Amino acid sequence: MNFFSVIQATGLSFFILLAVFTLMEKAFPANAQQRIFRPNWVLDLCFFLGQYFLWGAMVLLLLNYVNGLLNTFIPHTFRQKVAAQPWWLQAVEVVVLSDLVVYWAHRLQHNNAFLWRFHKVHHSSEHLDWLAAHREHPVDTIYTVGLLNLPALLLGFNLETLAGLIAFRGMWAIYIHSNVRLPIGPLKWFIGAPELHHWHHSYDRKAGNYANISPLMDIIFGTYNCPDKEPEKFGIDEPSPRYYLGHLLYPMLPGKWVRVITGRFKGLYPAKKVNNNPVNINDGVPM
Ligand SMILES: [Zn+2]
Ligand SMILES: [Zn+2]
Repeated sequence: MNFFSVIQATGLSFFILLAVFTLMEKAFPANAQQRIFRPNWVLDLCFFLGQYFLWGAMVLLLLNYVNGLLNTFIPHTFRQKVAAQPWWLQAVEVVVLSDLVVYWAHRLQHNNAFLWRFHKVHHSSEHLDWLAAHREHPVDTIYTVGLLNLPALLLGFNLETLAGLIAFRGMWAIYIHSNVRLPIGPLKWFIGAPELHHWHHSYDRKAGNYANISPLMDIIFGTYNCPDKEPEKFGIDEPSPRYYLGHLLYPMLPGKWVRVITGRFKGLYPAKKVNNNPVNINDGVPM
C-alpha cells in the first residue's frame, strides 16, 4: 500500500465514522449537552491520524513477527487438533480466551504504576465520543492488541482468518466510547455497551469494567459496575499534557528530558488546572 492509498483509506474511514457516529450521537445521546466539536477534539484527531499513519502498520508488523516466532515453537500436532474442531467451537475458544487474557492485562494496567503511565493517556479524555476512542499511547496499543490476539495466534489462527474478528473488535471499541446510550436489553449481559465502558472512564481509576467485548469476565471476577446513569465526570485525577507530542513523550521520558525537549516549543507542555488549583505539569512528571 503506497502513501497515497493510506491517505485515501484514512480520509474515507474518517468521514464514514464521522457521519455514522454523528448521526447516532445526535439520535441517541448519552450526554445531550455535549457538542460534536467538544474541547480537545483536535487532540483526539491527532491520535486518530497517528494510529492510521504510523502505529497501526507498526502493530501489524509486530503481530506478524510474533506469529512467525510462535510458528517455530508450537507443535504442529497441537495446531492440527485445534483446526480439527468445529469452527464455532474454535470461535468461542478464541473469544473467551482473548477476553480472559485482556481482562487481566487491562486490570493490571490500572494497578501497576509502570503500565498506568501509558494507559492513563487513554483515560485522560474528559469527553467521550467515537473520536476519543483513538486516544491511546502506541505502547498501550501494542500491549493490548498483542495480548488480545495472543490466544488466537497460539491456537494457530492466521492473521487473515482473524481479520474479521479484529475489525469487529475495532469497531466495537469505537462504539463503546461514543456519546451514545442505546439500551440493548438482556443482550447487555453478553456484550458490553457504551454505558458500561463510560463507567470504566469515570474519575475513579479502579471503577471496574475491564473486559473487552463481553462483560462476563467482570461479572465473574466481581468488577462489573453499571449504575443506571452516566458518570458525572470523565478523566483522571492527575495532570496531563494538552498536546499530542506531550502525550507521546510524557510516559516514556524522565521529567527532566521532557522539560528539555518540550521546553523548546512554547506552550507545548503547559500547566493544567486540577481541582481548580493551578498545578505545574512538570511538578508531576514521574522520574
Ligand atoms: Zn482502562
Ligand atoms: Zn476506553
